[in-house]
Amino acid sequence: MLRSKTRSLFCLLLIGVTLLCSCGTPRLTQRDYFAMDTVITLSLPEDTDSAVFDGCEKMIVSYENMWSLTLPDSEISRFNRCDNTAELSGVTVDVLKRAYAVSAAGNGAFSLTIAPVSTLWKPFLRGEVQTPPTDEEIEQALAQVDDSLLSFQDQTVVKAAPNVAVDLGACAKGYACEQAVKTLAQQTPYGMVSFGGNIGVFGTKPDGSDWTIGIKDPAAPDQLCGSVTLQSGFVSVSGAYERYRAYDGITYHHIIDPQTGYPADSGLASVAVISEDGLVADALSTALFVMGYEESMALYRTEQISFEAVFCTSDGKILITPGLEGKFQKFKKK
Ligand code: AMP
Ligand code: MG
Repeated sequence: MLRSKTRSLFCLLLIGVTLLCSCGTPRLTQRDYFAMDTVITLSLPEDTDSAVFDGCEKMIVSYENMWSLTLPDSEISRFNRCDNTAELSGVTVDVLKRAYAVSAAGNGAFSLTIAPVSTLWKPFLRGEVQTPPTDEEIEQALAQVDDSLLSFQDQTVVKAAPNVAVDLGACAKGYACEQAVKTLAQQTPYGMVSFGGNIGVFGTKPDGSDWTIGIKDPAAPDQLCGSVTLQSGFVSVSGAYERYRAYDGITYHHIIDPQTGYPADSGLASVAVISEDGLVADALSTALFVMGYEESMALYRTEQISFEAVFCTSDGKILITPGLEGKFQKFKKK
C-alpha cells in the first residue's frame, strides 16, 4: 500500500506518469498562468506549438477582462453599475443565460445576483477588513439577491432595480475551462486544462487509458481523498477549505447561502461535480454545496440536469452518486 502522502503525489502526477511510462508516447508539456484569480494549467502533448498555448491564454485573459468584479471597466462591473441594462457581448449573455438555468434548477442555491452579499464578505475573507459584515448589512444586501430580478429580452439582460448586481465567480472559470477545452480539442489530440478547482480533459491518450482526476481531502487539502476516472468532460470542486477566515472562534468561508447571506452550512465540506458541461459543473458544485447532500440527491433524481457528484461531508464521510460506481476510488476509510 502506498502511504497517503506518496499516494497524493502519485495521483497528482498520474496523468503524466501514465504517459511517461508508455514507451514511445509523447509526454505532456505544461504551461501555468495566473488569471481569473486562480492558477491555470494547460497540459498538452509535448510537440504542441507554443502558439496554441498563447492563443488559449489570450482567450482566458479576454474572459477575465469581461467578467472581473475588480476591474471597473469589465462588462459585468458596468452592468452592475447601470440602472437597468447595459450593452453586453453575446458571450456574456450566453454565460448569464446558461447560469440562470442552473440557478432555476437549484432553486437559487446558486445565485447569479449574489454580488451585493458576496462583495460584503470578500474584503473580510481577504483580510482587508478585520470584522465580518454585520447582520444589518447582510439583511440590507440580501434584499437584492434574487435571480428573478434579472430577465432576458433576446440578447439583452435587464435588471429590475439599480442595486441588483451579478457575480460570475461561481461559474466563469467553469465556462472558461470549457471554452479552452473546445478550442484546444480542435488543435491537439488530447490534453487537460485546470482552473483551480475546475478541470477539463479531452481526447484519447496514446495508451487509450481514461483520465484520472484526484479529489482533495477537505480535511487535509494537501492530500487526496479519492479519484475519479473519466474519458472526457469536467470536474469542478467547491469547498469550504478554498477561501476562509476565522474570527471570534467561528470559521467563515466564501460560499454563501443566498437564503441567509452567511456562509453555507449544509453539512458538506466539499462537493465535486462531474459533467459534460464545464459551466454546469462549476455552477452546480456551488449550488450542491449550498443545498447539502439530501437536497442535491433529490435534484439528481429528477434528471433535470445530467451530472454525477462526490460529496465530502463535514464529519468526514464520502458519498457518491450512483453513476460513479466503478469510476470513483476512495482513499479514506469512512
Ligand atoms: P465556487 O468556488 O465555484 O463555489 O464559487 C464561489 C464564488 O462564487 C465566491 O467567491 C463568490 O464570488 C461566488 N458565490 C458565493 N456564493 C455563491 C452562490 N450561492 N451562488 C453563486 N455564486 C456564489
Ligand atoms: Mg462553482
